[in-house]
Amino acid sequence: MDGRLARYARYAWLAAVHHEIGPLFYGVALTDRCNLACNGCRIPAAGRPDLTWEALQALLRGAHARGFRELYFSGGEPMLWGDGSRTVEDAVRFARRLGFYHVHLYTNGTLGLESSVDLVWVSVDGLPETYRLRRGEHFAEVEAAIRAPGHPRTAVLYVIDRTTQGGAEPFLEWARDTALPVLGVMFYFHTPYYGYDELYLDAWERAPIIDRLLACRRAGLPVLNSRAGLLALRSGRWARRTSAAAVADVDGESVCCRAPHWCCRDCGYAACAEIVEALRLRPSAVLAMGRFR
Ligand code: SF4
Ligand code: SF4
Repeated sequence: MDGRLARYARYAWLAAVHHEIGPLFYGVALTDRCNLACNGCRIPAAGRPDLTWEALQALLRGAHARGFRELYFSGGEPMLWGDGSRTVEDAVRFARRLGFYHVHLYTNGTLGLESSVDLVWVSVDGLPETYRLRRGEHFAEVEAAIRAPGHPRTAVLYVIDRTTQGGAEPFLEWARDTALPVLGVMFYFHTPYYGYDELYLDAWERAPIIDRLLACRRAGLPVLNSRAGLLALRSGRWARRTSAAAVADVDGESVCCRAPHWCCRDCGYAACAEIVEALRLRPSAVLAMGRFR
């Protein structure tokens, strides 16, 4: 652990004092395949082949050699990924042997949460009447998976779009009142990855929603976004795209995320704002980052 702390201390010093942002967070989209058909998502329709085990090993070796130490697997639905006898669990074990410090998984939660990762991020955009507008009739099975014993630490990822924007407070209150066993809820905004569709909320529309999330934080509801991260999203004054992060898929690697450059101006990937604010040593963002280990 000492080696990790020393590495992070040096990383933070270089970032904050010398503005040298080195590699840290690496994502791998294992597959485009998904068992859901969410509103606004075109990933499964891309129909590209899955990463092979050999390609995945090469990506992870290369990322680790370049200095990336925090890893996440996503998709499509990463729980569907496999290559011959290899599964996501093999990928997690391989990453740990290479020396990645933490491994996270982003899932829709419908295939269970059994995994040896450090943290599972489960997409739940509101209570059933809101959730179904984005993801369909799967709330009950996802809730059951979260409440089932024996899975790793879990956090909820809630994407706010035009259909789900009203559901944040009722969901947070329900999570608190029913003791949903999660670290908390991280709110993203629908990013115009494929263009400015009917789900998109512009900066003027996002601002009062962010104010509501800040009020929820103050009221002690389980919002995972830091104050600094939310304020950055509200003001738009945060540096993008960040070279602290990269993501790879079957077609290659992108800095920060796979979105086209024109999309960054209206980025709603709150995790990116959290990283940028943590690297500026904003206290609430640094504290929040510590919870996501
Ligand atoms: S679960 Fe994720 S990958 Fe699957 S359709 Fe929904 S948004 Fe797309
Ligand atoms: S859209 Fe956001 S997360 Fe993606 S590259 Fe741009 S700034 Fe980064």
